[in-house]
Amino acid sequence: MLVLNLACRHDHRFEGWFGSAADFESQLERHLVACPICADTNISRMLSAPRLNVSHLRDEGREPRRSEPPTAPTAGAVTKLPDGGNLQAQVWAAIQQVIANTEDVGNRFADEARRIHYGEAEERGIRGQASQSEREELADEGIAVMSLPSPESLKGTIQ
Ligand SMILES: [Zn+2]
Repeated sequence: MLVLNLACRHDHRFEGWFGSAADFESQLERHLVACPICADTNISRMLSAPRLNVSHLRDEGREPRRSEPPTAPTAGAVTKLPDGGNLQAQVWAAIQQVIANTEDVGNRFADEARRIHYGEAEERGIRGQASQSEREELADEGIAVMSLPSPESLKGTIQ
């Protein structure tokens, strides 16, 4: 038994059960395959779409989302951690990576970030301390900064 995802010209989606692919082709040619909703016999075979969320497409009055091909991934970015990976260890590794590749400018962080942003200092990664208001001012100027755990909590993990 072959179960196919089918659609008519009006984008009604339904399942067709056939003995084989040849059986389906044959019935299609003889216009024996009809849409159960509008009886249209101009039926096309859908790519094997995920079965998820198919039921709502049958709801009357709700338009199927035509703009999305069934095979195109539409989800946002995701991160795959190595199997058995420890999330905290991954985060620490990322933080240490940042530390290894940035220059510690301490309390001058906000000034230095600005100088870099406006081309007055060499373009590089920096880290340091900034107050909440300094961070907000930087954000207002379009300077991207990222908060890390406090330096105190990092002591002992860096050299
Ligand atoms: Zn139809």
